[in-house]
Amino acid sequence: MISVAIDGPAGAGKSTIARMAAQKLNFIYVDTGALYRTLGLAGRLGRVDIHNPQALETLLKNSTVELKFINGEQRVFLNGEDVSEKIRTAEIGAAASEISAIPRVREHLLGMQRDIAEKNNIIMDGRDIGTVVLPNAEVKIFLTASAECRARRRQLDFEKKGEKVDFAEVLSMIEKRDYQDSHREIAPLKPAADSVLVDTSELTLEQSAEKVMEIIVDKTGIEI
Ligand code: C5P
Repeated sequence: MISVAIDGPAGAGKSTIARMAAQKLNFIYVDTGALYRTLGLAGRLGRVDIHNPQALETLLKNSTVELKFINGEQRVFLNGEDVSEKIRTAEIGAAASEISAIPRVREHLLGMQRDIAEKNNIIMDGRDIGTVVLPNAEVKIFLTASAECRARRRQLDFEKKGEKVDFAEVLSMIEKRDYQDSHREIAPLKPAADSVLVDTSELTLEQSAEKVMEIIVDKTGIEI
């Protein structure tokens, strides 16, 4: 099986580019942020104090998180309910960032991510795929862009969904998340030593996707 790991901060274009590349390669695209978002949602719904170890343990025990691939599209389920759309709000993004900094939570989701990669050709995106989840991935890409660029893109995403947000607010949210994700003790956001860095600040989506495809083809020898 072939694994392509794409890591990087929020808004660098990981999910769109990974999805495009997966389609071209006929690989499964796995969005690991959805797993943390789902646990973040579960915590919010249950008003759980996630920093209380006992409460967290109960939350993990009572929250069945499943990834299913329906018509090639990833859907995420919480206790049998499809929450794929519900997890896409700014609030749940923040909840995901908070819960994902807890070592017990990362350990809880590790096996599931490795299991999917063992059984399928995948492109997996996240923050620690190349460093922790799949250290032996054939291809590791670290996709990044300036905070301003990413904030502009995120603002457009929210607007498309009818969620009105102010630019300064999105930028500060992005900066806060970058800080949280790169300063946590466990699995911080950082490029794997053997990853290829792609900065998408000055690139269009198509150019970024093309660059990523070139790297994948170069590293794997896959013909498309
Ligand atoms: O990628 P997405 O914005 O959906 O991720 C939500 C949050 O989940 C991130 O801010 C990050 O804190 C966390 N995350 C993580 N490790 C991953 C994927 C996401 O810690 N592999």
